[in-house]
Amino acid sequence: MPILPEPLQDRQGRTFPYLRLSVTDLCNFSCQYCLPDGCTETSHKTAIGLDEIRRIVTAFAILGTNKVRISGGEPSLRFDFMDILQTVRNVPGIDTVAVTTNGYKLDKRVGNWLSAGMTHLNVSIDSLEPAMFQRITGHNRLDEILRGIDHAFAMGLPKVKVNTVLLKGMNDKELDRFLGWIKDQPVTVRMIELMETSDSIDFFNRHHLSGQVIRQQLADRGWTQSIRADNAGPAQEFWHPDYQGQIGLIMPYSKDFCADCNRLRVNSQGELQLCLFAEQGHNLRHLLQSDDQLPLLIHRIQELLNLKDDKHFLDYGLTGSTRNLSIIGG
Ligand code: SAM
Ligand code: SF4
Repeated sequence: MPILPEPLQDRQGRTFPYLRLSVTDLCNFSCQYCLPDGCTETSHKTAIGLDEIRRIVTAFAILGTNKVRISGGEPSLRFDFMDILQTVRNVPGIDTVAVTTNGYKLDKRVGNWLSAGMTHLNVSIDSLEPAMFQRITGHNRLDEILRGIDHAFAMGLPKVKVNTVLLKGMNDKELDRFLGWIKDQPVTVRMIELMETSDSIDFFNRHHLSGQVIRQQLADRGWTQSIRADNAGPAQEFWHPDYQGQIGLIMPYSKDFCADCNRLRVNSQGELQLCLFAEQGHNLRHLLQSDDQLPLLIHRIQELLNLKDDKHFLDYGLTGSTRNLSIIGG
């Protein structure tokens, strides 16, 4: 039997069971904090193909990764999205195939995604108020997305996560609306502090709000912070006995945010990104061209991990080379 390499571990002792894979940088929404003028990228045709995806995921699985999140841009815009789900699900060692989506046509599509192998669903919903949803995303599609979530539950998905970017002056008065929505359904709403990127400095300065404000509002309403599991991601989770759903707070500007980092990213051009805010990606694409290259690919990923910093430098205003998160998948 071949000897498997040790699971990935960096200089700080962090392990990486979780890969975020962006499969396109195209998007059909124009979220104000991400792509306010819509998508102008033209690199979709050069995005990694199915075989390249299979090879990346296989290498990571051999290095101890069991969870893959498929993101974008909007990943469901890929014509071969179903094949991507199936391919990732079939890689030995991968037990979790999560999708992060803007929910476009979710009501019509989620059933097929589940059949193709998706095990977890994150939907981005920045407002439960249709006019505000449209103002933020450029689309009047809230109803379709909410129906899609109902449909996912009806198809047997036990829970759904919703990503909500906290935006001062836009959705910051909506906590009670979100709480009402999750009273009787197992949705975790993860409120994410707006992160500064080089494309969005003005927007960031106008709309960034600390998650501490929500933390206090939750405490005032009797919500309690859950005890963190060892493998927990960056979200602080809160629960309340009268609610089926939960609230998560993701506060990248808080101290020690990076201490529990458990994820690596590969973007749609096949570049390994060691941190969401890294200054550069590391090209792996030349090592994705044949199955015979697998040992070299594994070795290169191990080697590159030595370059991972212990933390991001967002608090110094250093946002890295990523102009907006559609390029790398959030
Ligand atoms: N298009 C998909 C979507 O919107 O869910 C997947 C890609 S999107 C880049 C992934 C996540 O990143 C979304 O939940 C989005 O709200 C979040 N995001 C994008 N830009 C952000 C920013 N500047 N700060 C915080 N979150 C951001
Ligand atoms: Fe598109 Fe997602 Fe960026 Fe919104 S956050 S513009 S849906 S990639």
